[in-house]
Amino acid sequence: MDVSATWRDASTTPYWLDTPDRPAARSALTADTHTDLLVVGGGFSGLWTALLAKERDPDRDVLLVEGDRIGWAASGRNGGFCSASLTHGRDNGAQRFPDEIETLERLGRENLAAIGETVQRYGIDCDYHLRDSLTVATEPYQVREMRDAATGFLDQDAVRARLDSPTFLGGYVEEGDLALVDPARLAWGLADAAERLGVRIAEHTRVSDLAKDGDRMRLRTDGGRTITAAHVALGTNAFPSLVKRVRLHTVPVYDYVLMTEPLSDAQLASIGWAGREGVDDAGNQFHYYRMTADRRILWGGYDAIYHFGRAVRPAYDQRTDTFEILARQFFATFPQLEGLRFSHRWGGAIDTCTRFFAFFGTAYDARVSYALGYTGLGVGATRFGARVMLDLLSGAHTELTELAMVRTKPLPFPPEPLAYAGIQATRVALAAADRHEGKRNLWLRGLDKVGLGFDS
Ligand SMILES: Cc1cc2nc3c(=O)[nH]c(=O)nc-3n(C[C@H](O)[C@H](O)[C@H](O)COP(=O)(O)OP(=O)(O)OC[C@H]3O[C@@H](n4cnc5c(N)ncnc54)[C@H](O)[C@@H]3O)c2cc1C
Repeated sequence: MDVSATWRDASTTPYWLDTPDRPAARSALTADTHTDLLVVGGGFSGLWTALLAKERDPDRDVLLVEGDRIGWAASGRNGGFCSASLTHGRDNGAQRFPDEIETLERLGRENLAAIGETVQRYGIDCDYHLRDSLTVATEPYQVREMRDAATGFLDQDAVRARLDSPTFLGGYVEEGDLALVDPARLAWGLADAAERLGVRIAEHTRVSDLAKDGDRMRLRTDGGRTITAAHVALGTNAFPSLVKRVRLHTVPVYDYVLMTEPLSDAQLASIGWAGREGVDDAGNQFHYYRMTADRRILWGGYDAIYHFGRAVRPAYDQRTDTFEILARQFFATFPQLEGLRFSHRWGGAIDTCTRFFAFFGTAYDARVSYALGYTGLGVGATRFGARVMLDLLSGAHTELTELAMVRTKPLPFPPEPLAYAGIQATRVALAAADRHEGKRNLWLRGLDKVGLGFDS
């Protein structure tokens, strides 16, 4: 089979953004202005911050500025897995904050419920549905680990009855902790809702620097405008932070996705998937996959590509080698779908930190707050991060500001060339672990010991 032919002609626009329904851009900021709260970034992080700020205090003036388009970056090009987990999985959170994990799990469930309520309250049409999450084992050692550890264990027949692949050996299912969503429509809907509450939004307005000016902040845009603000919340994700000292705490890592054409009735019948679960597999280099409303399969993950010097560039959104690997792995997983083609292929940057979930902080005498480091799981957690940013700016002691998760930061990555060398070594070691029954070599065990890591 000519695998390249299945993806070569695919559109390079992320599927979610490739729709005539994409709203027209709002105008850029055309005059100097003052605001009570300036939100920088029009992804989920910034959008939730602006919306929640207005909901909390309708009299506060809120301005959101986005350097490009609302939801164009990670928020409009992800898998649409909206997880309850705030810590990139319970195990990862429990390992780092054992005394707090039950609270973090509860806050995560409350966060997911609140996202669902918001979608309903504002009538956001974004194909939001609670789904089971299904993790599949494709190696015998993974089955053994799942059988020992997981409630919700499914043997091979049970997992293949849900979704049929000859590569599945077992799995486990979790209920109630996941929604699947069309992420771009969620971002656009949040922007509309915020605007209806009075938030001002400017697109194509990039902030080039910020500085303290008496008791307020002064920011310059690349269009030459000045914004003064009592407070600033930064939701800038994998892009260079306007607070320079936190830049070493994250690295931009590229993750890639293929989207198939819609499945025919016969193709769908050949794999099952009646429950429309959100699926991932259990390796270190894992895939995630799901179905869309129009019966396409989104298939992403596996590779995680870092470019020297923390570089973020539009050219990195496409990667031939990765698409070829992903396509080959797709047809190995679902040989019954031979003949299906991919309609879209794209990638995007993830703000990876060494604990794999967000960290928070303030700068300039707590006039500025930031939330960064969501790694591969920010669709849901950014709403929680938005609440943290607002609480930090309020100066109040709240349940969130007292959390150890909020008060501590992950270890930074080293500067170059060490960051590049260390990340490449880790990628090679993780791939080797996947080939050798999950056994971690000395390098990975050393990283585990000091709480450093690397993940997509
Ligand atoms: C391919 C891919 C798949 C993913 N899949 C999932 C998934 O299934 N589930 C999940 O939970 N997470 C997933 N993620 C991660 C998730 O998308 C992100 O964690 C989340 O969208 C982060 O939201 P954000 O608002 O912080 O960042 P972004 O959406 O990146 O928004 C940041 C915005 O800030 C703007 N900006 C930056 N600097 C400036 C500046 N100086 N001035 C003005 N604007 C600025 C940028 O233009 C950008 O629009 C995925 C990510 C990728 C790339």
